[in-house]
Amino acid sequence: MSPADKLREAHQLLLKHFGRPDIRDHDPLSVLIKTILSQNTSDLNRDRAYNALMERFGSFENVLNADLSEIEEAIKVGGLARQKAATIKRALQWVMDNYGKLDLSELCDDPDAEKKLTSIKGVGVKTARVTLLFGCKQDRFPIDTHIFRVLKRLGIVPPNATREKAHGIIDELIPPNIADVLHLNLIRLGREICHPRKPDCDNCPLKSICDYALAGGEIRS
Ligand code: SF4
Repeated sequence: MSPADKLREAHQLLLKHFGRPDIRDHDPLSVLIKTILSQNTSDLNRDRAYNALMERFGSFENVLNADLSEIEEAIKVGGLARQKAATIKRALQWVMDNYGKLDLSELCDDPDAEKKLTSIKGVGVKTARVTLLFGCKQDRFPIDTHIFRVLKRLGIVPPNATREKAHGIIDELIPPNIADVLHLNLIRLGREICHPRKPDCDNCPLKSICDYALAGGEIRS
């Protein structure tokens, strides 16, 4: 089975197993800030940090005008608070400098949006693509740590590929208009079944197409 066929088949098998995830509309700036807050923490703590930020400051304007130490204090529940506070402030300043207001809507129609977002120190390809996929409805596939592991085990991405290379490979393979659903279902698979240390291959909906399972768990991830 070619990697492209395998990716398509994985999408169908995950849809059958997990169903279609609930995808809501969000504005791109709040997606960007939430995604910065999501680095190295759970969804629960990301949401707690975001809610604490908005409760304390009330608006992104106030966050931009706040001291870094105040932002850091507000978001500490999410971990890596110093680094994230600095990235949030840089991102808000970048938005203000480029659009004259704290609104990223214009970016959604920009073909160079990913390049522009990743020019902000601390904003990587995954964060940029999550913003564009869920905030702008652009058809971009973000690869987080769970998806990266699963794609390597499936044999869609080579075991020694970098995350950057993996993004390039998936861009060539993925059919249009499935990035959001596939992204969320692969993350769910990585969290619930394809664990980093002991993947539960016996109960995995992808076991019939997975190199790792077919090789008896011998492919490094
Ligand atoms: S079969 Fe095993 S290694 Fe392959 S995706 Fe499923 S849980 Fe992960």
